[in-house]
This record gives sequence, C-alpha cells and structure tokens, in this order.
Amino acid sequence: MLLLRIISAVSSLLGGLLLIPGATAARAASARVSRPPNVVIIFADDLGYGDLGCYGHPSIRTPNLDRMAAQGLRFTDFYAAAEVCTPSRAALLTGRYPIRSGMANDTRRVLFPNSKGGLPPAEITLAEALKTKGYATAHVGKWHLGIHEGSRPNDQGFDFSLGLPYSNDMDGRPDLPRGASGSPTPPKDGWNVALLQNGKVVEQPADQTTLTRRYTEAAVKFVREHAGAPFFLYFAHTFPHVPLFASPEFKGRSRRGIYGDTVEELDWSVGQVLESLRTAGIAENTLVVFTSDNGPWLPQRAQGGSAGLLREGKGSTWEGGMRVPGIAWWPGRIQPGVSSVPVSTMDLFPTCLALAGVPLPTGRVLDGQDIAGVLFGGATLPERPFFYYRGERLFACRLGDFKAHFSTQAGYGQPKAEKHEPPLLFNLAIDPSEKFDLAPQHPDVLEAINRAIAAHEASLERAPTQLN
Ligand code: MG
Repeated sequence: MLLLRIISAVSSLLGGLLLIPGATAARAASARVSRPPNVVIIFADDLGYGDLGCYGHPSIRTPNLDRMAAQGLRFTDFYAAAEVCTPSRAALLTGRYPIRSGMANDTRRVLFPNSKGGLPPAEITLAEALKTKGYATAHVGKWHLGIHEGSRPNDQGFDFSLGLPYSNDMDGRPDLPRGASGSPTPPKDGWNVALLQNGKVVEQPADQTTLTRRYTEAAVKFVREHAGAPFFLYFAHTFPHVPLFASPEFKGRSRRGIYGDTVEELDWSVGQVLESLRTAGIAENTLVVFTSDNGPWLPQRAQGGSAGLLREGKGSTWEGGMRVPGIAWWPGRIQPGVSSVPVSTMDLFPTCLALAGVPLPTGRVLDGQDIAGVLFGGATLPERPFFYYRGERLFACRLGDFKAHFSTQAGYGQPKAEKHEPPLLFNLAIDPSEKFDLAPQHPDVLEAINRAIAAHEASLERAPTQLN
C-alpha cells in the first residue's frame, strides 16, 4: 500500500513536471532551432469526403480527427492525385502524377499480387529524399506499390516497414478465384493476405481484426524511439477498404455499422499517434497530415463510404472519386482554420522537402508545389490546374473554381467512358455536386483550361506501365 502511494506520488510529480508550459515551450523552441521537423502522413484507404464528423457525417463519431481539425487546418478542396489506390500512393510518395512513373494504367488495373511491376527504383520517394537529411523513416500499413525487389518499402527509402503488401482483399494464393477480390463476402477459405515486417511474413493470413491496433502500436513505438531526431512516418491504414474488420473494442459500437466501426477505430488510432507526439514533447516540431487515397467504394453499398455532397466515388474523376478529407496539424505553427485553397497529396513532397531543407530532385518534372504559405500563413496560391486522370487518360481539369470534364465514367459498372464535346463545365464553388453545366456561358474558361492542358501535355514523358 505504502509502495503504491510512493509510486503514485512520484508519477504525479513527474506528470506535473512534464506539464510545466515553460519547459514544454523551451524544449519545442530548442528543437525547432536545432533540427528539421518530423513528418507524419496518415493515409486512410477508400475513406470518403463525407465520412468524418468534421466533414459532416451524422452518425460516425470521430472525436480525435474532429479535434485535430479544430486545432489545425481543415481543407475543403484537398485532392488525392488518382482515383484508385496504387497510382494515388505513387503520387503521394513522389510528388508526381502517376502517368510520369508508369504507375497509372488504362485498363483499370492496379497492382495485383501476381503483377510483375511496381514503383520504379529510379523514382525518388519522400522517404528517400528525407533520408538525405538523416531522417529515420517508417512505413506502417498498406503498401501496394510492388512486391518485387526495387519496389518494396525497404527498397524505397523506409528503414522500417510493417503492413500488408497490397489491399486486404487480395491474396497470395493462386487457387483463390479472382472474383474474391473486392467482395465483402470472404472466399471459402477466408482472406489470406500476409502481414509483413521488413519483407518477412510474420503472419498469414493476417488477423485483420487486430491490424489497426497493431499498426498503431508500431507507429507509437516508432515515434517514441525516434523522438530525439527527425523522422518521417508514413502510416497508410488498411481500412476502411473492404473487407471490413474492427477489433472487439470497436465492433458493433458505431451507429453506422461495421463501416463506422472501422472508421471509429481509425479515429482512435489518430488520437494515439497525436498523443504519442505530445507525450514525447515533439508535437510542436511535427507536421501531421491526415487524408485518404481516393473516394468511397460505392458498389460496396453499406460497406463502402460516403462522398457527402460530392458526385460519385472511387474509380471516377467526378469530385467524389478524388476530393477527400485533408487535415494538417502542427501545434504552434499551423493556426486553426479552414482553407478552401485547392491542394493535393502531390504538394506534400515539395512542402516537406522545403521544411527539411532538402533540395528538390533534378532531372524530373514535379507536379506538386510547396504549400507552406497556405499551411502557416493563410496564403492563397497562384491559380494552377489540377488534372484528373482515370488510368492513363486525362478525363478532366480544374482551374480556379471551374472544372471541365472531357470524359466521364462512373467508377464501376459503366463499361465505357462518355465523351463530351464540348466538355462539361462546372463551377465547384457554386455547384460542388457537379450538376449544372455552364460550358455555353464560359468559352473563355474552357480556352484557359485547354491552354493549361496543352502546357501539361508538353511536359509529359509517359513512362511505360509498371502495372502488368
Ligand atoms: Mg483506396
């Protein structure tokens, strides 16, 4: 009893010391002077624009992400750079449209377990770039950028990797029917995807009910162990991609069914990561970005998410396929607010390199732009185009508030694209749901968009596809 009292007294004294604001501020200030910031990117899979409380969902509870948004900058116009998983991940890690790296494919293929290709070794990932400044680097969660030598996480700049090699509905087993992929109904023998750590299988099939928890433990451990030097953590969640699994602590707890359970567990995970940064005294020297790789997988019905008021979902170049939640958090550096400046995951590469003092790589076109002014100063950016690719084909382009669709196609279930000549034109500020075509009224806007596309295409050297 006495021993317990002593332990309790000592721990409250220590807790008190840790809470002295002056000490925390001094520690953070000295960290700022002496070292570049840590970077944490948390990347959900198939989470839609409308799936978080802070983006208007009525029945999924996301208190940690809502708090992160209230303390940080919540973007209304944040884009994934592709409409499906693999190209979106390639774009985030390289700062380039996947058309440039061979990571886009016109036949709607993503990397399957039997694919021969993957992210080419010549591509420079954010992890590789930050390592040049001594960053410790970790990948936790889904990879889906290749399983062969040269393309794996440890080959692409990550010191540590724990996670699935691809989507949780894909399998290394040749005897499973191809149709098993993408179905929320398990194949007869169950899902068989392996959990890998630094390229070695640690569990197969992975117990998917424990994935979010185990990912989170690995992420928190990495933060704790690397608190004394700059690090980059790329935390790419497996969920809410189907098949959906939640741990016993979260299963059945959400009013939104199993989809809500997985999102609420993901929200818990975000809270754990932010708390680990605070506990380590490095929150004031860490940029955290939360976003999603593409929109919701609508054909999964209640097991897919919601794009809120945006049209369509994953797989399409309507807004619901590529506009996603985007939250940036850095206590003391990012002022709380909401930004409607259009930005994309490709902007993270040059932004993080600038923060770390790493020169941009030469000999390649980068499509992202340093958005530090938006993050830290509430600045706007000069008007710049954003290109919506479906595979290797350019379907649409946004410039300012206007978006022109040259082709449209539902993410799934519409066998052929519909071409639009003249293109459809929407004002996304007035009409975020893309309902009212304004092309006849704005020939000047269409001309400006056509000029932007011509300049973009002049810069393109299409790499041979890596997704065979
Ligand atoms: Mg995805």
